[in-house]
Amino acid sequence: MSDLLIATRNPGKLREFAQIFADLGMNLRSLDDLGISAEIEETGTTFAANAQLKAEGYMHLSGLPALADDSGLEVAALDGAPGVYSARYGGVTGAAQLAYLLQQLEGVPVEARQARFVCVIALARPGGATEFVEGTLSGEIAPAPRGTGGFGYDPVFYLPEAGKTLAELPPEHNNAISHRAAAARAALAVLQRWHTEGHL
Ligand code: IMP
Repeated sequence: MSDLLIATRNPGKLREFAQIFADLGMNLRSLDDLGISAEIEETGTTFAANAQLKAEGYMHLSGLPALADDSGLEVAALDGAPGVYSARYGGVTGAAQLAYLLQQLEGVPVEARQARFVCVIALARPGGATEFVEGTLSGEIAPAPRGTGGFGYDPVFYLPEAGKTLAELPPEHNNAISHRAAAARAALAVLQRWHTEGHL
C-alpha cells in the first residue's frame, strides 16, 4: 500500500480526512507520524497559494505525495475579508474575534450578510504537477453568536435552511456539509485518478 502524507497537525482534520479516504487503500501518514517538525509559513495571499506552499514543501521534505489544505471565511459585504487572514482577523482570537467581525458588519441588514467558508486542498506528488480542489459552504453572518459547538467562526455562521448556526448543529451534521468535507471528497476523486494512472 503506498503512503500519502496528510500535511496537518490538527487531529480533528486528520480524523475527517481519514474517514473520507477510508476506502482509498492508501496508508495515511501525518507530519507527526513522519517526525517532521518543520513549519512551512503560510505567506500566500490566496487559499490555493498557501495550500500549494504546504503540499509541495512537505512533499519535498518527505519524498511522499502530500495533501494540504487552507481554509477561511469570506464575507461578501467585506469584499471577501477575512479570507486567508481568518485565523488572525482583527489581531485577536476567540470571542473577541467574533465581536470584531460583528462590529465590522454593524448596520448591515440581514439580506446583505452573505458569507461562505472556503477550503482549498492542494495535492502534490513527486515528478507531477500539483492539482487543486475546492469546497465551499454558503450561509450568512448572524447578528450575534449562538451555540457552543464547533470552533472559529461557527457561532456566527448561520445556515438559513437549518435555522441554526454551525455551533448549534451536531458535529456529524457539520462534518457532512463542511467546506472541508466537500474539498476532501473532490480530493478523493483526484487520488483515485492518480491511482488509475499509475502515479501512486
Ligand atoms: P485553517 O486553514 O483550517 O487553519 O483555518 C483558518 C481559519 O479559518 C481558522 O482559524 C478559523 O478561524 C477559520 N475557519 C476555517 N474553517 C472553519 C470552520 O469550519 N468553522 C469555523 N471557522 C473556520
